[in-house]
Amino acid sequence: MDEPVILRESEHGLHREMIAYEALRVLTRLDEAGYQAYLCGGGVRDLLLGRKPKDFDVATDARPEEVKKIFRNCRIIGRRFKLAHVFFRDVIIETATFRALLDNPPPEAEDVPLPSRRHTDVPDPTFATRGGVIVRDNVYGTPEEDARRRDFTINGLFYNIADGSIIDYVGGLKDLEHRVLRVIGDPETRFHEDPVRMVRAVRIASQLDFEIERHAREAIVKMCGELGSSSRERLHEEMLKILNCGCALKVFERSWRKGLFQTIYPPFSAWLQGPDRHEAMNWVKKALRQFDVWKQAGLKPMPALQHALLFGPYIEGMAGGFAAEGMPEFEAILQAVNTVLRDKANLTQIPKAVVFDVERILGIQVQMNKSSGQSKYASRLRHRNGFQEALVYLKFASGVDPARKELLARWMAPSHEPSAPPPRKHEHEPRHEHGPHPGHGQSHGHESHG
Ligand code: ATP
Ligand code: MG
Repeated sequence: MDEPVILRESEHGLHREMIAYEALRVLTRLDEAGYQAYLCGGGVRDLLLGRKPKDFDVATDARPEEVKKIFRNCRIIGRRFKLAHVFFRDVIIETATFRALLDNPPPEAEDVPLPSRRHTDVPDPTFATRGGVIVRDNVYGTPEEDARRRDFTINGLFYNIADGSIIDYVGGLKDLEHRVLRVIGDPETRFHEDPVRMVRAVRIASQLDFEIERHAREAIVKMCGELGSSSRERLHEEMLKILNCGCALKVFERSWRKGLFQTIYPPFSAWLQGPDRHEAMNWVKKALRQFDVWKQAGLKPMPALQHALLFGPYIEGMAGGFAAEGMPEFEAILQAVNTVLRDKANLTQIPKAVVFDVERILGIQVQMNKSSGQSKYASRLRHRNGFQEALVYLKFASGVDPARKELLARWMAPSHEPSAPPPRKHEHEPRHEHGPHPGHGQSHGHESHG
């Protein structure tokens, strides 16, 4: 095994004050207890690039039970490969014991209960052999093995709290400097092991404005079909990360060029290439740009609002077809939401609650269209769950499609209905990401279109 490149504290730009208090506390307490304690993953990468990390992960030679002895606020999670979660008021620091190369199944192989796994061919490392000998308990490894089982070289760097050095087993420093996203090991092998890495590659390269190394790029184009064997739940999570990464439009454009997006959403993609493709693409790109604007403003829209905006005209077009065949309009929109979002041809599993909220957002469009905006019915509608998101949808839609401007004006006019409560000044104001409901919350925002 090769010697790592080591940069001393004075030779790189990552200083301990840059690390979030909670992660620093985990690192120093492990270090004081005599363990190796490394900051790893995206945290190291982003700090070296002068970016604000999304989260901090820790790698250590302490076993999860040993981590638990040090931190009262700690829970061990995971079925076979156990991880320690150290809890603080608003964050969890994931603390993982160095992991062996052999123990490298895709995350769904262990986080998701077996019945919902699509993979049946994930090699179970519990029974993997080394030189013909079955190595049952060999899930923990050396720091080098832990670096090599990671996805990309720039994600395989360690910051050692003991002396402030950066330890690089995988050539990540060089790739950071040249702004290249390179797979650790052979791209085809690593993508076959876990196809979600292809989606991660496109997202992370777009976020950092890095070039994907040629072999990996070619492998993605060739292998995107393998995404069909990844867990649908994980792909949905990955899609949410894309929608909220701050450069959703760029990720979409890059993954469209590679055929990756088309693999994940085949019928929707076919529609995007159909007779109305210009309007369709225009809408989708505007929606994605809107997500980027929200992110920039520190806002976190509901996943349902994002799904409504992304798939809206496709769903509404389909509903129009159902209605033309005689289905009542409201029923038609619900039917279309379900046809589009629950389509088994999609590789993502959109949770039921999200589908239900999209039904609300698009259903309310139909109801708004039927009302003057001033009746008793209208005032009840204004208080219905999902109305605020529906209004954000309408504002967005009228920015793209002028035919909806009149409807928007009707609903933006002050309500004269006596039973309606006085308009609240901040009613439509989006909530901030760091507000009272962090994470995938209820909050939403809007940009004015017009
Ligand atoms: P982000 O900014 O989105 O958090 P990240 O690189 O930190 O990016 P995480 O999902 O937080 O992504 O993962 C933390 C680290 O775990 C990664 O940097 C990488 O080293 C490793 N990792 C994550 N997913 C995989 C995977 N599918 N295969 C191999 N290693 C992975
Ligand atoms: Mg991270």
